[in-house]
Amino acid sequence: MKGFEERVREATNLIKQASYVTAFTGAGISTESGIADFRSPGGVWDRYRIVTYQEFLSSSEARKEYWKMKHELYKDLREARPNKAHLSLAELERLGILKAVITQNIDGLHQDAGNSPEIVIELHGTNRKAICVDCSRTWPIEKIDSILEEVDFDPRCVHCGGFIKPATISFGQPMPEMEMFRAMDEARRSDLMLMIGSSLQVEPAASIPRITHQKGGALIFINRTETPWDHIATVIFREPASEVLSNILESLKG
Ligand SMILES: [Zn+2]
Repeated sequence: MKGFEERVREATNLIKQASYVTAFTGAGISTESGIADFRSPGGVWDRYRIVTYQEFLSSSEARKEYWKMKHELYKDLREARPNKAHLSLAELERLGILKAVITQNIDGLHQDAGNSPEIVIELHGTNRKAICVDCSRTWPIEKIDSILEEVDFDPRCVHCGGFIKPATISFGQPMPEMEMFRAMDEARRSDLMLMIGSSLQVEPAASIPRITHQKGGALIFINRTETPWDHIATVIFREPASEVLSNILESLKG
């Protein structure tokens, strides 16, 4: 692998030459904000079993278990702040360079960093809201989180009586069609995509950078570990995303 500075120069040149730059982000961009990748040891998934969407709909026990897990997770999420990698993406949008952020994350940190909510496409939903599974009304997660104990961890919609669920996409729940459609459209339009912090192992999300590649766009991969798709990337970084992106920004402005 070439030296860090040389790769930063290459990435900077790719950005300068591109006319439509997008980002695709995964858990790795938020680990520096203290949010553990749910697949990592010691994560909440070690202490709670996975509750599928079907179980959530059919079993009160499953709903309680799911909400208890979310309640615990929410304490960490509330403390989390965007790091330099998120802030750099917001700066790239302000500079008129970045057109969309497609994310697998549910933490809302791209919006906190200053990316416009309209350009952030959340493929796995968001932990910032709760939603009624029947009438689709939404509430800020704080509101539901604060009443969980009163309702014995099985909150119901005041309008229709439906179950209230965190607005994240659960196992066994289909990907949101509109978000998937928008993400694929952005991937097709991109002549450069920054892939940050995803090991590209979960489909169909992992197919997004491949679409850009198939359409002739370039890819910059910033991820601590190898991915099955490294061979299609033009430039690869294993360094921390905050360091890589802040160096690229400096180089762009310099
Ligand atoms: Zn409802």
